[in-house]
Amino acid sequence: MSIYITSKCGHCNVKWEFLNNTRLDIKLGPPVIKCFHCNGLNKTKYKLYRDMNSFEKLWLYFQQTFLRFIFNLFVIGMGLGCIYGFLLMEGENGKNGLTEMLEIKNYLGIVIFSCMGMGPIWLGWSNLKSCFILDERIKNVEDVFDSNGGFVWSHEFYR
Ligand SMILES: [Zn+2]
Repeated sequence: MSIYITSKCGHCNVKWEFLNNTRLDIKLGPPVIKCFHCNGLNKTKYKLYRDMNSFEKLWLYFQQTFLRFIFNLFVIGMGLGCIYGFLLMEGENGKNGLTEMLEIKNYLGIVIFSCMGMGPIWLGWSNLKSCFILDERIKNVEDVFDSNGGFVWSHEFYR
């Protein structure tokens, strides 16, 4: 899943649009962004990892690895629960939802309930990997920031 983030230069008001593949919508980022349009330097609300205090560092890791992981497991669990509840769990008549829907030829129902389950499973599964990219992201931002000499170009952010 990709999300576009739009932000504005504080000097020339040009709009920056970023494709954020990693979706780390967090405090981590370059504290200074240089506008590709007017070369103006913009202060941001972001911080480099090395500039954070111990609490911020701890929270960043807790939130972006542990909480993120738990959340995605929960989403996967919801999908599994959906499939189990609607299709596989035996009702009072001893038949599960899948058998019943096959008997009355409710194929659309099978497709809909499968999608309701598979959607969250797929989403949670594909997002699980984002729990393991924090180290890389931290390093990437600091590397670009340092090699530019203290800023990140507006078009370099959120690659
Ligand atoms: Zn500008």
